[in-house]
Amino acid sequence: MSVFSNRNFDQHENVVFHECRASGLKAIIAIHDSRLGPAMGGCRMFPYSSDEAAINDVLRLSQGMTYKNALAGLAIGGGKAVIIGNPREATAATWGAMGDFVQSLSGRYITAEDSGTSVSAMQLIAQRTPYVTGVSSTQAHQGDPSPSTAKGVYFAMKESVRVRYGQNHLSGLTVGIQGFGNVGRHLCKLLIEAGVSVFGADPNQDNADSARALGAKIVDPGLLMTLPMDVFAPCAMGAILNSDTVAKLQTGLVCGAANNQLATPDVELELMKREILYAPDFAVNSGGIIDAFSQYSPTANINVEQQIAEISNTLAAVFDYANANGVTAGSAAVKLAKLRVENGLTPEKSLLSA
Ligand code: NAD
Repeated sequence: MSVFSNRNFDQHENVVFHECRASGLKAIIAIHDSRLGPAMGGCRMFPYSSDEAAINDVLRLSQGMTYKNALAGLAIGGGKAVIIGNPREATAATWGAMGDFVQSLSGRYITAEDSGTSVSAMQLIAQRTPYVTGVSSTQAHQGDPSPSTAKGVYFAMKESVRVRYGQNHLSGLTVGIQGFGNVGRHLCKLLIEAGVSVFGADPNQDNADSARALGAKIVDPGLLMTLPMDVFAPCAMGAILNSDTVAKLQTGLVCGAANNQLATPDVELELMKREILYAPDFAVNSGGIIDAFSQYSPTANINVEQQIAEISNTLAAVFDYANANGVTAGSAAVKLAKLRVENGLTPEKSLLSA
């Protein structure tokens, strides 16, 4: 198993492996880039089929967090943690041991909720380390960043629709949502309130039922990506866009919350050939990390609503750069994120005209 030559390694600053004898915890923390500040990114728990699969995932995700955090305008770097194991088997000892692991890095990595973890898991981690966010459980804020993520996707979709279809509103459009989980359900509600006709799929019957109650039409998960729609909004798993699925899509725009939607970066070229605009996921789904950062660092005085709304402007800059330079929106987004990392969050307009 290679680490330095792994194609996702990309000069990670630290990749730390940890096994706790007492609790059985097996976890990896990857810190990709801390030039903008301490690395922040979620902690995922998943029963990976091999150590290699876990390493690939943590490297890819932490690199993505560097780009996401920079594009969100946050003074934090990119990092991620993965726990190898079934979330259903996690105990208080698992989370305690994870807290000790995070603490051992003395604040270079700040952890948060991700798939397979929860607000209550973060609260147990917080008993061992202050370097954790998403633990608040006030009436106003339940710690869960998903509503903020959905709001960001909503703003991103409005901007992408403006660019792709030349209209300034979502009303009257048809949006297909894949996955009515935490983000998908909130997005469904926002879209229906905006006059969008929403349909979608979720193999989890309870989640599908909640979306139906909000007014969405439910379709077969296997059929969803083949149906005509103005916007396809992936809000479930990653890597769902590949040569096979792209060939079947009947839409002009993909804009959703799921991380790492492209199975490989070159899939975006296939989308382009089919005149399907792809709104890069890490530019679209940063509402959650904006929220998580403001919970972690109230003294940073982040105006969460304003910063989430700013996702539209960032995406506009991404599409402009892609257009002007004949590159994909994905590579334009990476380019802008790297410029921000190298230049300390200077807005790209001045960087690009320099
Ligand atoms: P979630 O686990 O709450 O919801 C995912 C939903 O997708 C579940 O209801 C699941 O049943 C459904 N699903 C699984 N396979 C499916 C399929 N084949 N077709 C349709 N639905 C399917 O997760 P979430 O928190 O809503 O996050 C959704 C995506 O957005 C994930 O990729 C996540 O990494 C990403 N994301 C989430 C946040 C956040 O704030 N929660 C932030 C950034 C990115």
